[in-house]
Amino acid sequence: MPYGYNGKILHVNLSSKKYWIENPEEDFYRTYWGGRAIGLYYMLKEMRPHADPLSPDNLLIFALSVLTGVPAPAIPRYTVCAKSPLTGAQGEAEAGGWWGPELKKAGFDAIVIKGSSKTPVYLWIKDGKVEIKDASHLWGKDTGTVQKIIREELAGDKIRIAQIGPAGENLVRFANIVNELKHFNGRNGLGAVMGSKRLKAIAVRGTKPINLFGKERVSQITKEITKRGMDNPLSRDLRELGTPAVVRPAFEAGCLPSYNWTTGYFKEGENLTAETYNKTILKETKGCYACPIRCKRVAKISEPDFKVDPSYGGPEYETVAALGSLCGISDLKYIAKANELCNRYTMDTISTGMVIAFAMQCYEEGILNKEDTGGIELTFGNKEAMLKMVEKIALREGLGDILSYGSCLAAQKIGKGAEKFIHVVKSQEIPMHDPRVKTGVGLQYALSDYGADHMKAAHDPFFKDKDSIGIKEMKGLGALNPVPPTDIGKEKVALFKLLDIYWSVLDLLGVCVFGYVPRSVGTLDELLEIIRATTGWKATWFELMNVGKRSINMARVFNYREGFSSRDDTLPEVFYRNFKGGPLDGQGAINKEDFQKAIRLRYELMGWNPDNGTPTPAKLIELGLDWLIDEVK
Ligand code: SF4
Repeated sequence: MPYGYNGKILHVNLSSKKYWIENPEEDFYRTYWGGRAIGLYYMLKEMRPHADPLSPDNLLIFALSVLTGVPAPAIPRYTVCAKSPLTGAQGEAEAGGWWGPELKKAGFDAIVIKGSSKTPVYLWIKDGKVEIKDASHLWGKDTGTVQKIIREELAGDKIRIAQIGPAGENLVRFANIVNELKHFNGRNGLGAVMGSKRLKAIAVRGTKPINLFGKERVSQITKEITKRGMDNPLSRDLRELGTPAVVRPAFEAGCLPSYNWTTGYFKEGENLTAETYNKTILKETKGCYACPIRCKRVAKISEPDFKVDPSYGGPEYETVAALGSLCGISDLKYIAKANELCNRYTMDTISTGMVIAFAMQCYEEGILNKEDTGGIELTFGNKEAMLKMVEKIALREGLGDILSYGSCLAAQKIGKGAEKFIHVVKSQEIPMHDPRVKTGVGLQYALSDYGADHMKAAHDPFFKDKDSIGIKEMKGLGALNPVPPTDIGKEKVALFKLLDIYWSVLDLLGVCVFGYVPRSVGTLDELLEIIRATTGWKATWFELMNVGKRSINMARVFNYREGFSSRDDTLPEVFYRNFKGGPLDGQGAINKEDFQKAIRLRYELMGWNPDNGTPTPAKLIELGLDWLIDEVK
């Protein structure tokens, strides 16, 4: 009996309604460990190149790791992988919550889904038993209703459900997958892949404890991290202010994304700060499985004519900015309502805010008019219009249908020069962090295999001076010297390379980045100890960093096979221009030539072909990925 994992991967073919269980050897787990490394293993082996992401040929993989579900701080996550219908590239998204640990206790380490059902179905997995059940009565219903019905019909309050709402069914290209109504596999449109397979939900219940090599050691480290974490300002701020804490420094510095990135100056920013949030809409904070940090926001509004249901959690920073300042909106009530709607329908709030802000700018510029919007006055700041557009996108009505394709395709459909107002990398809308004040985030946006993303590496401020937590705690991995946040020279590229690999490790292990350095108090040593005590393996950081590199190289090979190359590793043009308005007016432009040199240097540091950014056969051999050499010839 293995420690930490089950040694079982469930394969389901929804076309034939058959399933089988694979029992990989220990070597497989020791090579790929979990998350996207496992997902990409199957995508590269079993999916034909250039498969239509919304066809039965796409695979949809839910992958835990050897660690997921271990009762230690901040290790609740799992990854969903598929070819993304938004980007056409390798798609992945991690979610916290409770579903991943429950699947582990139900006896599986991953689920690989292929084919598609003719009629709606859901999977029911209980303690190793699998059923494919009819979901016709659930199709068209929102997530809260579906959770209630499934729990009633399967008679279990503790059943954990990963599911899609109507946006996933309607194949909105940025539909996501939710568990417990508020934990998301947020980006890349993986909910649309689930919708294309007519798979409404995966309900799981597991009662078998996870087999740990050193249970007492895990519990001892957990106590140490928790004790320190309760007093430490990093985790205390996460609990007390949550991710919306980012609003104040961004708004005061003049880099809060506003009015579809036309400025970083939002004069009503105070209305969106974490302090205002806590005073006005916060009901409580909640946590994920076994996590003492409890950083998740829960918003509630109970006015007679305006209600926000707390079951759907509350807006995080990205949502506050994307559906707030980016759309010129400063009313947290409306942002919380939009968040609730996105969660009921299952839509990524970043892309939703971005496509609405894009449409608002098109309207202000005369590219769209009232006839196009169905009579909606789609101006910046119109909060009622923003809420209406959220619904129209989810239900694919009128202009909402056009926006449901994401900014790139929407701009092509609208025409008249609309593409000037989109801000994407690999067709995915950029998150709410401005690379002009932290260039490492720009490298993340440009180099992320799954389109612009802000969770690919730790952000620059954690390494800005010798007293920064990143420099104090991560020297052992190679973060030796501070680098200024706006630097884009060789030191920044070397730091980014390191952090990208490190965060890939955290992601594929199911570790929440808010639990460990540089974002919180869990140390590298403690995380390694948890891994050893869970698995019984004499793991090292050298080994783990190689697994991270393996997953990055596999993703790069997948994308190369799909036709991606260095020309797709770009940054939106807006970041090569100075800020307009506010404290940073007339400053900040990233030098394009320096940025392009940085991209090329990163290819070289990774051991890739510097001209097209493709892994070399030698690099693949070094990482034990010889089986991929033919793909890069
Ligand atoms: S730090 Fe927050 S998001 Fe991360 S596992 Fe804990 S509660 Fe969940």
